[in-house]
Amino acid sequence: MSNATEFEMRRRERRRRERLRKKRIRAAIIFIVLIAIIIVVAVAVSMKKGNNEQQNTNNVSVEATENPENVVPTVEPVQTNTLNIPPATEENDLLQIVKDSVQEKRCYLTFDDGPTENITPQILDTLRKYNIKATFFEVGSLIDSNFDMARRVYEEGHLIANHSDGHNYEKLYASTDTFINEVNACFQKIDAVTGGAQTMRLVRFPGGSYKSSADSFSPVKQECKKVLKENGYYYCDWNALNGDAEGKKKDAQGLLDYLKSNMPEGQNVVILMHDAAAKQATADALPMIIEYLISEGYTFHRLDDINYQAAVTTIAPESGETATTTTSTDTTNTASTTNPTNTTNPTSTTNPTADTANAQNSNTQSATDKPVQAQNAQNITPAPAQSGTAIIIQ
Ligand SMILES: [Zn+2]
Repeated sequence: MSNATEFEMRRRERRRRERLRKKRIRAAIIFIVLIAIIIVVAVAVSMKKGNNEQQNTNNVSVEATENPENVVPTVEPVQTNTLNIPPATEENDLLQIVKDSVQEKRCYLTFDDGPTENITPQILDTLRKYNIKATFFEVGSLIDSNFDMARRVYEEGHLIANHSDGHNYEKLYASTDTFINEVNACFQKIDAVTGGAQTMRLVRFPGGSYKSSADSFSPVKQECKKVLKENGYYYCDWNALNGDAEGKKKDAQGLLDYLKSNMPEGQNVVILMHDAAAKQATADALPMIIEYLISEGYTFHRLDDINYQAAVTTIAPESGETATTTTSTDTTNTASTTNPTNTTNPTSTTNPTADTANAQNSNTQSATDKPVQAQNAQNITPAPAQSGTAIIIQ
């Protein structure tokens, strides 16, 4: 082998080794880059996962805080407010408490005489659309026959209050004993719906509780107020109404116009409406009524959502004096509690004849449209015997 050939072979060998070395370096670089990318991706993924878990934990803790009693979060949490108003044993006229509060432009929508399978769901759909919470004064015997609807009212965050067990004036107002027995029976049924979660014990007298010489039940109603107080129950009338239980039957526009005509000026407002089976116009009018109240600047609340502390007015100190506080529940207000003629809307809020007229209408409707006697009264106190007559619905 010549020297030239040997030299050429060595040169080729060097080049081969050089290429191999470069190839290994490239492979090493690619490997390192890949590892780096994998590490970066892994870190990013784990950080994101960590954030989500943290967020979920936060959500759970918020729900737990808002709704400590609800162990199984299968339904929308129902918040039971801690009452921040005078105890019912001291002052149980909730309308007066609402009016006394200096919280302004607060509206409390109330629906009496349900739950019903045809009207109540329409009312609930509208309230949900506007994200508004309201108060439903339900009749015990109707909770029996429409238990699932009562449950829906509760699950959608509304307050269920007490509107007697049978809504038959003669039976209910026969004595203070018959009255409180029906109220207690109705509370038992409400507790069956809510699992006893509602702390507010609130009653609305069928026909209202205003003093009136035209109302033969008025004297016993005044006695019943004392019995409610002894039991720690509030009662609540209204200071505005859409007129769906009064006089001539109105269409949706008529109900809105009626409400506009009797809205109290400068007061928080508790509005009486009905979700009884015959009140289709009330369901039809509700969106218009809500739009109207929104345009007037009202906010909407359940009747257990009253911050009574807000009713304490701070009087600015004059030179050198200490600030003093006074509540707005001074004695000048008590006159309007006991004297309905002092209300801004005496004709509509205190006229029991309208209620009676409607009771007669609804009596017919009840007899034809819907059996309102208890149908599902197992494990709860049965409704009073109806003697074959339909319950009078206001
Ligand atoms: Zn009623």
